[in-house]
Amino acid sequence: MIYYKTAEEIEFIRENCLMVCNTLSLVASELKPGITGMQLDAKAEEFIRDNDAVPGFKGYRSFPATLCISKNDEVVHGIPDTYEFKEGDIVSVDCGVYKNSFFGDAAYTFVIGDISEEIMKLLVVTKESLFKGIESARVGNRLGDISSSVQEHCEKHNGYGVVRELVGHGIGKNLHESPEVPNYGKRGRGTKLQDGLVIAIEPMVNLGKKGVKQGKDGWTIKTKDGKPSAHYEHTIAVRTDGPDILSNHAPIEEAIKNNIELKNISLKN
Ligand code: MG
Ligand code: MG
Repeated sequence: MIYYKTAEEIEFIRENCLMVCNTLSLVASELKPGITGMQLDAKAEEFIRDNDAVPGFKGYRSFPATLCISKNDEVVHGIPDTYEFKEGDIVSVDCGVYKNSFFGDAAYTFVIGDISEEIMKLLVVTKESLFKGIESARVGNRLGDISSSVQEHCEKHNGYGVVRELVGHGIGKNLHESPEVPNYGKRGRGTKLQDGLVIAIEPMVNLGKKGVKQGKDGWTIKTKDGKPSAHYEHTIAVRTDGPDILSNHAPIEEAIKNNIELKNISLKN
């Protein structure tokens, strides 16, 4: 069952998504060689609680942390640990918050220092594919239009592997609601998009093959072939006048620009 949101509910979700993005911009200002995921996680949790909200992931199905931090060949759901980040790492950071009975959700993949052109291209194409998906999130379209827009954009570039096992999702009073939003699919198929639908669109795209496996910790998802993977996420509302992006990557990218240790992911539009 899909819960369509009122304008007022959408504003609660927007507020939470903006807090998520402010948390990710804090991460962007702190991330550098030598810092650990656990240190970033502690800062993120403190920031969220200082803003009278609750980390949305901590305790969700017993997940132990505020952030999901997934580096290099880790796709998503990495548990922050004592690994010290180093130059050349790509780091996906996913965050959720809960406040006023609603959730917010967004994610961004960061680049520490210099990486190969090949991996930078993967990040750019993955981020572009998120916006291709959002463009298709229009009243009268179907879910498959979003999914296929993401998939087609990724697969036409170097045959990237679009992850099948993990998908975007409806979001509201629950972190994960109906409908599922796969990053692959067929145009014209699936649920018709209606005003008030709020979904998280989150392409997870592998440099190599699409196959993934679960790590020994029971959470971390990794690529089967050991090649790097990228992940970007926005929460959006489908409105009669077009998609409304409730999260905002701009403060994150501002923080990246001000952190000399990080590289910017710039889309040439
Ligand atoms: Mg997320
Ligand atoms: Mg999500």
